[in-house]
Amino acid sequence: MTDLLTPVLTANWGDERAWKLVNYERTGGYQGLRTALTMDPADVVAQVKDAGLRGRGGAGFPTGMKWGFIPQDNPKPKYLVVNADESEPGTCKDIPLMMASPHTLVEGVIISAYAIRSHTAFIYVRGEVVHVVRRLQQAVREAYSAGYAGQNILGTGYDLEIIVHAGAGAYICGEETALLDSLEGRRGQPRLRPPFPAVAGLYASPTVINNVESIASVPSILARGAAWFSSMGTEKSKGMTIYSLSGHVTRPGQFEAPLGITLRQLLDLAGGIRAGHQLKFWTPGGSSTPILTPEHLDVPLDYEGVASVKSMLGTKALQCFDETTSVVRTVLRWTEFYKHESCGKCTPCREGTWWLVQILGRMEAGRGEEGDIEKLLDLCENILGRSFCALGDGATSPISSAIKYFRDEFEAAMHTPAWELFPYERSTVF
Ligand code: NAD
Ligand code: SF4
Repeated sequence: MTDLLTPVLTANWGDERAWKLVNYERTGGYQGLRTALTMDPADVVAQVKDAGLRGRGGAGFPTGMKWGFIPQDNPKPKYLVVNADESEPGTCKDIPLMMASPHTLVEGVIISAYAIRSHTAFIYVRGEVVHVVRRLQQAVREAYSAGYAGQNILGTGYDLEIIVHAGAGAYICGEETALLDSLEGRRGQPRLRPPFPAVAGLYASPTVINNVESIASVPSILARGAAWFSSMGTEKSKGMTIYSLSGHVTRPGQFEAPLGITLRQLLDLAGGIRAGHQLKFWTPGGSSTPILTPEHLDVPLDYEGVASVKSMLGTKALQCFDETTSVVRTVLRWTEFYKHESCGKCTPCREGTWWLVQILGRMEAGRGEEGDIEKLLDLCENILGRSFCALGDGATSPISSAIKYFRDEFEAAMHTPAWELFPYERSTVF
């Protein structure tokens, strides 16, 4: 089974002090940068386009195409911003990547900034993960000392400043335009798009914002070629990626495999669901993506495969829950999170998430009222597509999909508390 894995980003995670520059260089580190600097920036963009790399932050937007939107005739400075604010529930791929191999990201930053002709790059990290901030700062310092960053990089005349910036710990600051507001020193709230950041982003200048894993994939594309990268994955979802398995799994963790692998195959690698239990439901890409059930175990985990069963690949955070779990309680916990993290800018999300929590809360306690399921669905319908940003839409996904697959459990919650329906869960988890 392990031949299903394609470790590139995770290849050296187990090595001692893999985060040190000397060890990164020993395993071929910074070769991609050396290659890129011999090329015209436009050819670097073309190579990433040819590789078929799609954004790994959740939306899957083609990375090379995004870079191509940067207007090169605009006299304003161009910025590269790495979105390292990973906070989608269940998502745990960028933080281990930055801890184990920060230079993969730093090398990717330098290549990507060169490709879009930027001389200033920011890495915006969640403020809570101070250890990650320190690890990145150390890696950036090492890169400067070795001549990979700063003035006249490797004698080519190219200059780049890299700034590691710690956010203050708000989920909404992972939304790209809220992140920009935060970086500019304001309260992080989403901006109206268009204009997209590629046209008017940081300080109203052309800005590329990419997820950590997207940028960290770039060095391998430059070092091994676009054809190598696009030989992995499926027709429209190319390359390898990191899936995070969590929950009731025997060996949870990060598994790097080609896009299109299935949850059944990943569970085989992770030792399956914990002994004596069966899978009940799972998320393909964190809690913002509609939940799926065991009938979807063989769905290819690529953008098209997951969309074909009316869900989304999202961040590839596969949270697995067994039969001891109350779906009502799980959905309530997620909704409480969205209510807490709603930035309050628009009414459907600010008010809607509050009402969703009220209704789910009384259902969890077995005090649901006649018509509550319809009220939940009506609220979801009025939030979805009417919210200012993806947070509101995402908040509705687990609820409407859970009612679709487990309506009987929501009906039972009208008269029986979740802790009576699922006593095992209460005794072991809560
Ligand atoms: P989106 O589809 O609106 O945009 C994706 C990217 O493409 C953005 O960078 C956007 O600027 C760019 N883009 C799209 N159309 C463009 C155009 N016409 N011109 C120029 N650029 C264009 O998605 P989004 O709202 O940015 O992100 C939503 C995703 O975020 C969800 O799929 C969710 O899975 C994911 N998410 C991730 C996390 C995490 O922790 N990684 C947290 C919450 C949500
Ligand atoms: Fe803020 Fe929610 Fe509206 Fe997004 S959807 S702008 S998080 S209130």
